[in-house]
Amino acid sequence: GRSLNDTISIAVLPGDGIGPEVTGPALKVLDRAAGIFGFRVSAVEHPAGAGHYRDHGEALPQSTVDAVGRADATLLAAMGLPEVRYADNTEIVPQIDLREIFGLFGGVRPIRAWLPDAVPLKDPRGRDIDFVLVRESTEGLFVGRGKEQADGDRAVRDIMEVTRTTSEKLFRFSFDLARTRRKQLTLVDKANVLGSMAFFRRIFDEIAAEYPDVTTERLYVDACAMAMVQRPWAFDVMVTENMFGDILSDLGAGLIGGLGLAPSGDIGGDVAIFQPSHGTAPDIMGQGIANPAAMILSAALMLDWLGRRREDERLQRAASAIERAVEAALGSGAARTRDLGGKATTAAAADAVLAELKG
Ligand code: ATP
Ligand code: MG
Repeated sequence: GRSLNDTISIAVLPGDGIGPEVTGPALKVLDRAAGIFGFRVSAVEHPAGAGHYRDHGEALPQSTVDAVGRADATLLAAMGLPEVRYADNTEIVPQIDLREIFGLFGGVRPIRAWLPDAVPLKDPRGRDIDFVLVRESTEGLFVGRGKEQADGDRAVRDIMEVTRTTSEKLFRFSFDLARTRRKQLTLVDKANVLGSMAFFRRIFDEIAAEYPDVTTERLYVDACAMAMVQRPWAFDVMVTENMFGDILSDLGAGLIGGLGLAPSGDIGGDVAIFQPSHGTAPDIMGQGIANPAAMILSAALMLDWLGRRREDERLQRAASAIERAVEAALGSGAARTRDLGGKATTAAAADAVLAELKG
């Protein structure tokens, strides 16, 4: 299909710490890709985060929420600073608030060996790692975030909640994603121990019946952790609840060389937010050495998502071109920042990606 509208409007939330440092490069790459593939990007920055809270008394202004709701997609960097907290001492995490506000149930974490040298496994098949972890992002074991129940000083209880509505959406989304790839879907749960997880699996089985063309596998989370280390190249799409996904996506990032290479998307009905999996990295902020790859790859993921939604192949081709450019720039060594054992600065890494970007 062809899109009548040549402009994609994105809301940009640079956030805190290294957020603004990796946002600039990602926007440059997006602009260049748009020029090559014949579309326009209208990117408007909006404030949110711990720095904005410190200076203006609010972490997530309503105007920013409205902008995210209106935009075709949102590109978000990292938020939160160790020394800045709300008055009640809770963490400032507007990126998690946004997931709740917009019901962004599907946390998409592509794990790929962008730089085969950075894969810590000895097995040569490590270079074939290419899977997507889908993490439910609004309920599960994080549903009671900050609302735990204390029994005096004797016990504290957290809650794990699985709803049918969200699970059905999550599984259909995951099966649809698997259909665009190698048509394999692995469910990760703990159905042998937890009632909520047995319910999760039952709903998975129901939805699986609608997708007979997709091969399914069911793993308990403990066995899955081992399989991810022993045969990560065998996975295609994986789907799991919130906390398991939180943990396994870091395991996934570790398999391919760290958080600097791990993009992500948080997908809801009409709203989607794309951001690197890493945080604000306060230990290296302001030094110009942050790895911009995860943010650039998040921008590519955004173009791919938008391209599929709008049936505009230009956006999907631009997304693939950005991914190839990142791979080439990492491969040559020019984009290897300190976290990858190299010496490239953020600016040099970004320039190397731009130099490799072609139609
Ligand atoms: P959050 O709570 O926001 O997830 P975190 O403390 O778990 O934050 P990060 O801020 O992601 O984690 O940092 C973890 C480590 O990884 C730090 O040592 C940081 O310097 C490093 N790191 C994270 N992102 C990058 C990046 N883009 N480039 C280089 N190093 C990074
Ligand atoms: Mg973290």
